[in-house]
Amino acid sequence: MKREPAVALAGAERPSATPLIELQGITKTYRNGELAVEVLHGLDLRIDAGEFVAIMGSSGSGKSTLMNILGCLDRPSGGSYRFMGRDVATLDRDALACLRRDTFGFVFQSYNLIGSSSARENVEVPAVYSGMPPHERHARATELLSSLGLAQRLDHRPSQLSGGQQQRVSIARALMNGGRVILADEPTGALDTHNGEEVMALLAGLHAQGHTIILITHEREVAQCAQRIIEMRDGRIVSDPGPPHTLAHPTGHAPRIDHSSHLSDVIEATRTALRALRANLFRSMLTLLGIVIGVASVIAMLAIGDGARQAVIDSISSMGTNQLIVRPGAPNLRGRDVTATLVAEDVVAIREVPNVLAAAPEQGNAATVRYGHADHRTSVTATSADFPLARGWQVAYGTFFSANDEQDHATVAVLGQTTADALFSGAPALGEYILINNIVFQVIGIMQPMGATPWGADQDDVIYVPFTTGSSRLTGQRHLRSATIAVADVTRIDATQAEVETLLRARHGLEDFRIRNMASIIETASETQRTMTMLLGTVGVISLVVGGIGVMNIMLVSVTERTREIGIRMATGARARNILQQFLIEALVVAALGGLIGIGFGLAATAVIAAFDTPVLYSLPPILLAFGCAFSIGLIFGFLPARKAARLDPVTALASE
Ligand code: ADP
Ligand code: MG
Repeated sequence: MKREPAVALAGAERPSATPLIELQGITKTYRNGELAVEVLHGLDLRIDAGEFVAIMGSSGSGKSTLMNILGCLDRPSGGSYRFMGRDVATLDRDALACLRRDTFGFVFQSYNLIGSSSARENVEVPAVYSGMPPHERHARATELLSSLGLAQRLDHRPSQLSGGQQQRVSIARALMNGGRVILADEPTGALDTHNGEEVMALLAGLHAQGHTIILITHEREVAQCAQRIIEMRDGRIVSDPGPPHTLAHPTGHAPRIDHSSHLSDVIEATRTALRALRANLFRSMLTLLGIVIGVASVIAMLAIGDGARQAVIDSISSMGTNQLIVRPGAPNLRGRDVTATLVAEDVVAIREVPNVLAAAPEQGNAATVRYGHADHRTSVTATSADFPLARGWQVAYGTFFSANDEQDHATVAVLGQTTADALFSGAPALGEYILINNIVFQVIGIMQPMGATPWGADQDDVIYVPFTTGSSRLTGQRHLRSATIAVADVTRIDATQAEVETLLRARHGLEDFRIRNMASIIETASETQRTMTMLLGTVGVISLVVGGIGVMNIMLVSVTERTREIGIRMATGARARNILQQFLIEALVVAALGGLIGIGFGLAATAVIAAFDTPVLYSLPPILLAFGCAFSIGLIFGFLPARKAARLDPVTALASE
């Protein structure tokens, strides 16, 4: 049974004076360390376009070595090879790849199909590298496979096809870009007689259509199909009738397709990458996991860090951003015997400074407070009626004491929330009498809860009493612990601070006080927290880098495992750039996919952490940062394996298991 390809297969040659292939004195020496073995000893050979040549010889006679040289998969050690008059020694790796892609079609004894790709995808490979648009490529591959009787097998993997079917797929692949010259190395070697005859019939049919066929075989019956039989023995040509003088098939030139755009290259490489990742799903998942954990931890760590920082800023800001705090004593007076003297009169004077809204003196002691049988040790602060305004802190129940209370040395007290809870445990407190250091005070107000300071002190564990009462009856001293000033216009806070400084220096005769404003305190605290966040982020980035090393490891394994696939791609016309791009994109796909999943996990983890009352802050920059890191890590750690793949030698790669 003869099966003729039904499609008009482009790829024939007009006879011309220039031989298609011209070898002169070709030698090939294999070097294994010190040992050099010459396997081809000066071959002269001329093959014209449109010929059907069989190269015959026993195993080990150098036929495959010769074919690799003819097909530009390997370079000769000596002599010259002219293809259509052009010395191929002058062509670089990429030019050789293009020559293979556009001119040669290889058919191997072991088929050399890519195991993870379907029949049609295998056939399309050469066209991918010549940049044929996808729809054209699909159509042509389908047509070729159908004409070879594989219309029902388009989506089968090589492992789902018989040997004869696989060989027909590889013939279709050889024809994909025209297949002007078909190089078939023992194409029937692995097939039974029936399938072998079919393949030979196919080759004869292609010859009839004008393709140049170079067939390599060790069987005389197979060689008999050809017009011309060249016999080889021990690396020498021992018999060659020479090219026939008349050529029967003058037909047109093969189409030269090269409109490969970068974008379509990238899309194609991404598809291939996804396929390769799917083929090794479990391993890909593990690799992904490294990146996912890295990205997720960067996002979660930064969200926690930023959240903590925001919490600190919020808690300081809640104390009021319009405040100046004056404290007695100054570092630059240390060593000099100066008593720090900040007194209530200073505060009265400060109230006269422009832009000062309120100023409250504060002085206090620890004291034991008693109500009924309840005892509570807390801090009692003597301050003025200005306090709520100066601190921006209002009473929740009752009232704060007034200027009149101060004048009258009234024994009234305002409780912080914690103190109120400790003494009254929920019972009404207003109007009740309590004992502070055995002096009776009436509770007239309870402050709103303020929470803890950024440093962890409970601001609600306090009692406020009028300054006059406190200093005369409780603390017994004139000097202040601090004074809090609120300014009316925050934008002028620095000028006001300077004026207060001038005023106090004039009153004291020297600088025995310090003034700090809230803005600078927030700045300091936020700076400290930022360092924390950086630290947390670094931990995340480190795990991301570890994930990146995982990617590199897997890619290296993948390159080693798929060396044969790389060889097949190179034989069918992939340039080094194509291979580099493919493996790089594979690494990038892992990194990007891991990045995306990692973002999801990171946000989810952050949400869980937030559910446990830890402050978190979502923001876009850490997400972009983490994804960017993952992507660049893919690029960096993917480059080495990709370059290793791209630098492989086609013959060595093809020969690998
Ligand atoms: P054939 O295809 O005719 O069976 P080959 O061309 O494969 O023969 O091999 C010819 C000779 O070259 C053999 O003796 C083989 O051992 C040797 N040979 C082939 N490839 C290599 C190689 N990579 N390194 C060393 N020797 C090689
Ligand atoms: Mg061989």
